Amino acid sequence: MEIRTRFAPSPSGFLHVGGARTALFNYLYARANGGKFILRIEDTDQDRSTESSFQTILESMKWLGMNWDEGPEVGGENGPYKQSERLEIYKKFTEELIEKKHAYRCFCTTEELEIKKKQADAMGIPYVYDGLHANMTDREIQEKLDAGIPYTVRFKVPHKTVIVDDLIQGKVKFDAKLIGDFIIVKSDGFPSYNYAVVIDDHLMKISHVIRGVGHLSNTPRQILISEALGFDLPVFAHVSEIVGLDGKKLSKRAGATSILAFRDLGYTSECMVNYMALLGWTSEDSQEYLPNSRSAEIFDVARCSKSPSTFDVFRKMKEEEKETVNLTSLSTEDLAAYLNPKSKLNWLSNKYIRDAEIHDLTERIHPFLKDVKEIPEDIKKPGNPTLISMLDSIRVYLDRLSQAPPYLVEFFKNDISIEDEEARNIATSGNAGLVIQKFYALLSESSPVTGDDYKAMMDQTGKETSEKGKNLYMPIRVATTGKSHGLELPILFPLLGKDKLLNRIRQIATEINLIF
Ligand code: GLU
Repeated sequence: MEIRTRFAPSPSGFLHVGGARTALFNYLYARANGGKFILRIEDTDQDRSTESSFQTILESMKWLGMNWDEGPEVGGENGPYKQSERLEIYKKFTEELIEKKHAYRCFCTTEELEIKKKQADAMGIPYVYDGLHANMTDREIQEKLDAGIPYTVRFKVPHKTVIVDDLIQGKVKFDAKLIGDFIIVKSDGFPSYNYAVVIDDHLMKISHVIRGVGHLSNTPRQILISEALGFDLPVFAHVSEIVGLDGKKLSKRAGATSILAFRDLGYTSECMVNYMALLGWTSEDSQEYLPNSRSAEIFDVARCSKSPSTFDVFRKMKEEEKETVNLTSLSTEDLAAYLNPKSKLNWLSNKYIRDAEIHDLTERIHPFLKDVKEIPEDIKKPGNPTLISMLDSIRVYLDRLSQAPPYLVEFFKNDISIEDEEARNIATSGNAGLVIQKFYALLSESSPVTGDDYKAMMDQTGKETSEKGKNLYMPIRVATTGKSHGLELPILFPLLGKDKLLNRIRQIATEINLIF
């Protein structure tokens, strides 16, 4: 059997982590089995579907590298791939269902149904449609049609037990009696989700339906429709929900941000794919770092866990933030403040950045450098040798590509000053002045080139001043950068060069009244 999976988003917002993870599992499962991955747009909710959401979804899928074999833009033999363009197809099946008495027209008005719902609420029982119009005669129906009374089409639910045999959740039983005859065609003529999905999955020959566990309760409805139409069932696999660090379902407050926000934060798409693959799935050898699209070779939906997976990218909200913060509406900069520095995503991302091919890294980092005016234009160019050596020396410190500019800017600064009180204390207490003076003197007299040359010079400074450890290199750090933290000095110094270093030390010395 050919494996055919699909991702079927409704274009009513951006693609968030939950949706992207669903798309990814379908994509990976198809790829791992040499199958096909189909993208279908479920835009039957006319009020909520928008063109911009459709475009954002496509952009997100492309950024993550989840190329679809059939769907919008690429076409395919089972199209069209937008449900709003398939209305004629659904109509034929609706006629068949009505003909075979598996469905009927319901002329109840919204007001009538509201009253019944309220009555059920008042009695504390779940509302189930009472099947009022299930047995109208042909004449009664014709009269209402002639009078132009709007109607919906309801599926006649047989009273039986439906068992969903789910690859992840196991066998789950549902009592169809509790479902009630549900609407399959709305009064605007558009099919309901549960109806269109069955027809499309069948016509598009979908073998595996992989989606969020929230859809498990819809599955008995879909099975009943499939049975009425004589369709074979696909394999169902409902993946468990994603929770935040607070253990609660991801919401706007807790990180259901657009997947593109992670691109803007500086995570690479490979890293994001790797991280999301682990949200509910583990490989046989429990490896977590899966570079070179490894997950697309080894992913198996049957190895997905029933328990919720934790999205640890954003830190837990403080009590006072819970009411006010909406992560989905923050600018990239503000959003960064809510990241959990110890997340698995950061750990993976750092590994990806460290292992990246360096030329490729200069290309990927370009969007984050292009507006930084302190970096000379020619250096920013992908492949520039200076940029390569700078990036190579700082990449171990980066969890995100967007963290590179402050490090790089350091290399190009001509004017520096003491950054804060901590730095000032370091440069002005104990033997610091002497250390700085000695280092300056040694540097003026020699021509160091490599990191080792500079290291030897620092050791010599230590010998001549009887200082070592922090008391030695911290004053030198402040005297050459103005800061109390940053790149390792033997890495930084060769990139700055002797003249720039001497100039910098003179500036700091003037600031702290140190005379050579
Ligand atoms: N359009 C549905 C959604 O976005 C698809 C659910 C499914 O995969 O069946 O949730």
